[in-house]
Amino acid sequence: MIEKLLRKATFATSAAQLNQIPKDSVCEVAFAGRSNSGKSSVINCLTGQKKLARTSKTPGRTQLLNYFILEDNKYIVDLPGYGFAKVNRKQQLKWQEVLAEYFYKCKPLQSVVLIMDIRHPLKESDVQMLNLAIDADKTILVLLNKADKLSKNLQQKTLMQVKEALGEKEDEKLFVELFSASKKTNIQKVSAILGQFFLA
Ligand code: GDP
Repeated sequence: MIEKLLRKATFATSAAQLNQIPKDSVCEVAFAGRSNSGKSSVINCLTGQKKLARTSKTPGRTQLLNYFILEDNKYIVDLPGYGFAKVNRKQQLKWQEVLAEYFYKCKPLQSVVLIMDIRHPLKESDVQMLNLAIDADKTILVLLNKADKLSKNLQQKTLMQVKEALGEKEDEKLFVELFSASKKTNIQKVSAILGQFFLA
């Protein structure tokens, strides 16, 4: 059922500021991640669409919330990739403000999917994003993407390390899963978790 819902995703609108986000939203799940973590590929994989989220040629350049509508006022929100040095400092600070306001004030935003490259997990910018989501009381799904780049052993080892690093934070509000957008690894389990987010 959730798979069917995700496949309906179509582009709705882009917002540069909070007064531009859809007013009819009742539930939205935001996707966050460092540039090149594979965020666009993960969104495309989960929605079964090749080109919904644009894979980034100029990472970190467009600081927009991209809204994809599923149905019944439910949205996937693609946040700009972060951790890219070329965005100027002033722009970066402005964006952090918009993001914090979005996380604290947007009631339909209950859950955040945080995508990391399994080979470079928990970078400083990821930890900042995690802390913002935790402080704003969101439910969080951490995806260790590009699992196909590591052996099964190393995948499990990294999964354990990340879970351990997140420590007592892992509970019914924090999930950590292996993923591969290329190989669709764990797509059923991850879709089911999204189902909990959207159909709750
Ligand atoms: P974004 O900048 O986070 O949106 O990342 P993209 O989706 O544009 O992906 C960045 C690069 O990583 C592209 O070359 C993708 O083909 C590649 N990529 C994304 N997901 C995976 C994956 O699961 N496995 C592998 N091997 N490569 C991936």
